[in-house]
Amino acid sequence: MEVGGAGIGPSRASNGPAAAAGGGGGGGGGGGGGGSALIFLGTGCSSAVPNARCLIQPSDPPCRVCSQSLLLPPDANPNYRCNTSLLIDYCPNNTKHSYILIDVGKTFREQVVRWFTLYKIPCVDSIILTHEHADAVLGLDDVRAIQPFSPTNDIDPTPIYLSQHTMDSIAEKFPYLVRKKFKEGQEVRRVAQLEWKVIEENCEKSFVASGLQFFPLPVMHGEDYVCLGFLFGEKYKVAYISDVSRFLPSTEQVISKKGVWQLDLLILDTLYKEGSHNVHFCLPQSLEAIKRICPKQALLIGMTHEFDHDKDNESLIEWSRREGINVQLARDGLRVPIDL
Ligand SMILES: [Zn+2]
Ligand SMILES: [Zn+2]
Repeated sequence: MEVGGAGIGPSRASNGPAAAAGGGGGGGGGGGGGGSALIFLGTGCSSAVPNARCLIQPSDPPCRVCSQSLLLPPDANPNYRCNTSLLIDYCPNNTKHSYILIDVGKTFREQVVRWFTLYKIPCVDSIILTHEHADAVLGLDDVRAIQPFSPTNDIDPTPIYLSQHTMDSIAEKFPYLVRKKFKEGQEVRRVAQLEWKVIEENCEKSFVASGLQFFPLPVMHGEDYVCLGFLFGEKYKVAYISDVSRFLPSTEQVISKKGVWQLDLLILDTLYKEGSHNVHFCLPQSLEAIKRICPKQALLIGMTHEFDHDKDNESLIEWSRREGINVQLARDGLRVPIDL
């Protein structure tokens, strides 16, 4: 199901995102060996897909996309979408694997149980947060479940990179994950051990997580809110932008073909198929931005139940041929080998 043009990563002929996205199963299976890869742990909106209301108060006729979840197990259902999240399996020079997680949403535990087991991911080495909305952070409590067990919390903390605004909000949502000092007489209880690292909302202020360099990409997520995307990869350039309603010109310049280089892969937000939305791109704005930024390939994430994976990817093949840029919807469990 390659949509023309080169794939991503070392096996350019057949392992591009479009080819992998066409698979009927969990997106390849196996893993662990080989070089670096991107694993899409979740590609859905905040309320996830299936939409609960479509199942408990079905319309007549029922929602086609959501009803699929009653007929197919999640692994065989490309329309089963958890909260948007990406795992970067970083393996420079085919040596040691490091696992970098972007966002830890409400469905984090389910994503671990499904995809960490399939791809044999033993741990998370660092975490990066895009912003502090529920679908990006509410799984933070469950991080303890993938950390080494110590009843006294005597383990190395996992570094977690986030903006100051996100830090302030997390301190209110999860005071017990941030608190350093114990009150007198307070019992020790096992909680996730995290090392908080505040980053700047600035394209020029890069940081390094588990050996991989990241450039923050501030974008508007509603006119009153800045969310971070991230640019990473030395050999292949990838931009990950999960929540955006408008690009700041300075950010667009950094990832646009008209700027310094052409992105190899743009991973971009798209909420609904038609119209527009105040805090997210919908498909018309996503495709418009892809044309302007002109990456070699783009994968869309953050979809609601309006998107029917196979059907809409067929239409996107048409668009891709016409515009000369490969664009497809990602799906949960999609694994994209890529030389970072
Ligand atoms: Zn539905
Ligand atoms: Zn958000």
